Amino acid sequence: MIIAMKETASQSDIEYVIARAHSLGLETHVSRKKNQTLVGLMGNLAAFDPTALAGLRGVGEVIALERPFRLASRSFQLERTIIPIGDLQVGGDQVIVMAGPCAVENRDQLMDSAWIVKEAGGHMLRGGAFKPRTSPYSFQGLGEEGLRILAEARKETGLPIVTEVMSPEQVPLVCRYADVLQLGTRNMQNYALLHAVGESGAPVLLKRGMMSNVQELLMSAEYILSHGNPNVMLCERGIRTFETVTRNTLDINAVPVLREMTHLPVIVDPSHATGKASLVKAASKAAVAADADGLIIEVHPDPENALSDGYQSLNQEQFTELMGDVERIAAAVDRRVLGARLGTAQAEPS
Ligand code: PEP
Ligand code: MN
Repeated sequence: MIIAMKETASQSDIEYVIARAHSLGLETHVSRKKNQTLVGLMGNLAAFDPTALAGLRGVGEVIALERPFRLASRSFQLERTIIPIGDLQVGGDQVIVMAGPCAVENRDQLMDSAWIVKEAGGHMLRGGAFKPRTSPYSFQGLGEEGLRILAEARKETGLPIVTEVMSPEQVPLVCRYADVLQLGTRNMQNYALLHAVGESGAPVLLKRGMMSNVQELLMSAEYILSHGNPNVMLCERGIRTFETVTRNTLDINAVPVLREMTHLPVIVDPSHATGKASLVKAASKAAVAADADGLIIEVHPDPENALSDGYQSLNQEQFTELMGDVERIAAAVDRRVLGARLGTAQAEPS
């Protein structure tokens, strides 16, 4: 439930509403949209009578939500959100491909990866400088040195950078280098981090928790939106199921489900969703056919010797072949991969 305060409400009106809600045993979350303050109510709402707050000074409306998220919902905003990243637009007509290694390992490996991505027609470079590894003994990333190498690759290739941020303290540092802040599956419900990236205003790629449902993903997006950042991309990266033949299970349903429920762009990560290089192309094609706005794919110049996620990383030949296949699938469903030279793109005037 949300209390939408009038634009004329004073700070003391707002504080009084919050205090009353607390005295009724409810928790509150305050956000501002343009000049309006919204007070979200959480807790035992079944036992709560909205008229208890509706008459207070400064209250505009008490909104009962059929869903517990508001700013992310399609009923709040019908037109789809388009996120500008450099010259690119995510969420528009064209499919965007982000690709690169799981982790930045050294300058040569990252530069080679960046050129593979660029030459095959990819649009953004991914690479982790801070790595959330399941084991504390695995490679944890190069930290700021990795960010510097990513920035150098952007300078050389022109590809915008997507990289993970793992804690609120890292946000200012990562913002200095990255075009998109990735929030990993393990951090989808790290509320302090959601708050910090919300305040940063930088484009965010929010990955679905491996054990979270679609509504929980949207609730996490709501945290970022309600802290003032509208630039949120959602990422389906596979969830844990009883199936063990793949690393995760790609929830392909999530793509059209999210397209119905929210205006935010939807990206699919077929690399973590399958965990096997041999399956990444099929999962990518399925994602584009299902209307995903983009893909994020792990690519490495020498997957066998990668320091992380080598078994699911594509080499140059595999990634180049994937781009061609994805372009053909996009054309078959009346869409287009940005810059594609194939399919319907050929028929269009330049
Ligand atoms: C990654 O993108 O390398 C990564 C760690 O992803 P996830 O958080 O989805 O596991
Ligand atoms: Mn990875």
